[in-house]
Amino acid sequence: MKFDLNKIYQHMPVFIQNLGVSYYGLKLYRREYGKKFRAMLEEFEKQQWYSYDELREYQNRLLRKLIKHCYDNVPYYNQVMRGRKLKPEDIKGVDDLKKMPLLTRETIKEHGDELLAGNVNQKKLVIGYTSGTIGVPMKLVWDKRVCLVKNVVDWRQKSIAGIKPGDRMAFLYASAVVPLNRRKPPFWRYNWILNHLHFSNYHLLDNVEYYVNKLSAFKPKAIEGYPSLLYVLARFMQSENIVIPVQAVFTSSETLMPHQREALEAVFDCKVFDFYGLAERDVFATECEFHRGKHLNEDFGITEVMVDGERPTKAGEMGRIVATGLHNYAMPLIRYQTTDVTMLASSECACGRSFPLMENVTARDQDFLVTADGRRISPYIVVGITRRFTNIREHQFIQEDGNSLRILIIRSDSYTDEDSRALIEQMKNVFGEKMNIELEFVSSIPRTKSGKFRAVISKISAEF
Ligand SMILES: [Zn+2]
Repeated sequence: MKFDLNKIYQHMPVFIQNLGVSYYGLKLYRREYGKKFRAMLEEFEKQQWYSYDELREYQNRLLRKLIKHCYDNVPYYNQVMRGRKLKPEDIKGVDDLKKMPLLTRETIKEHGDELLAGNVNQKKLVIGYTSGTIGVPMKLVWDKRVCLVKNVVDWRQKSIAGIKPGDRMAFLYASAVVPLNRRKPPFWRYNWILNHLHFSNYHLLDNVEYYVNKLSAFKPKAIEGYPSLLYVLARFMQSENIVIPVQAVFTSSETLMPHQREALEAVFDCKVFDFYGLAERDVFATECEFHRGKHLNEDFGITEVMVDGERPTKAGEMGRIVATGLHNYAMPLIRYQTTDVTMLASSECACGRSFPLMENVTARDQDFLVTADGRRISPYIVVGITRRFTNIREHQFIQEDGNSLRILIIRSDSYTDEDSRALIEQMKNVFGEKMNIELEFVSSIPRTKSGKFRAVISKISAEF
């Protein structure tokens, strides 16, 4: 019989759950914060100041090693390279990457097992699934090293904000740390080892005040979570004139909208560091002290931004992120075509890092709406409009076809027909008169399986 640990956990008393969270923290601590972690963090802290040439040399060296490993040990790549008459020595560096084909999600789903390296210790692997909103989830396999490097680049960005391991931090992600049927606080659990407080997302909407009080008492040095969840706190704090100063707020996993950043910076009296990381662990992008966009951490993975899967983007052009992780030897992904699109900044950052900058336009391809004449509309544009409607508490755009657009709306008490009329008019300004715009009033908007909020869901694909 297999025990469902999660079920057992849900029925334990709070102090035991705190111990559980801390025990998990201890295991995690040993694995991900030990000697190796500290040495590697020191190394990566230096790497962020590599000149462009030093960075290229580092990438080339790691890429050559990875390609050789793929050729020797990964059946899928051995076959692909033989098919193209490629030997490992034909890929000398980043410039030769284009000799390799793009890797699609479909290929990963079909050939997942052939992408696994034959020479790695199966017991030491970590298995995960991407939380794709459409279709079958994709199975991914990581070795311990890439998990460690991921943790290192995460803490490297935290140290830019002045946060170190062991500092008090509060987290608000989608996590079931508290039994779902709980009606009274605490709606949080404490990890003593790492000094981290984990809030439950499930109980947030009905108990915002408890959350804010707990945050105020806990006095975290930093807060991290999904923008949509932290924004719930920020709106409540704004309405009550509450400010809880912290050193930094970190957001990720959803598109951070400018008004959310503004609200978070006001109520927490600090800068927001939004970061971008794929579950695939081959791209990681972080803000520096200048907050001019996100630096692609190119010592973690090589990132290309491409149009139609054929050529790199030109200045000012959006393209799809294609990623080659440099550190996962269990299931290497080379030129993996992600579902995310972005635009590279054309100027360098004042901080002096050579890591290229992505403009703050990064979004999933499914977050783009399409007009009847085929123009792509970024989620930033539509949300920029709706946020001016103060009588809309929450909303979601759903596009099923090229001629119609549905907007789910949670109204506040002061919402009137005039709001509906003005909203439709402004949407028609963007999408054209022909677009059929339908408003649907609802009492709640469902989250994705992993608890994320999506402002836009497009079921017709915008091409990139
Ligand atoms: Zn910078």
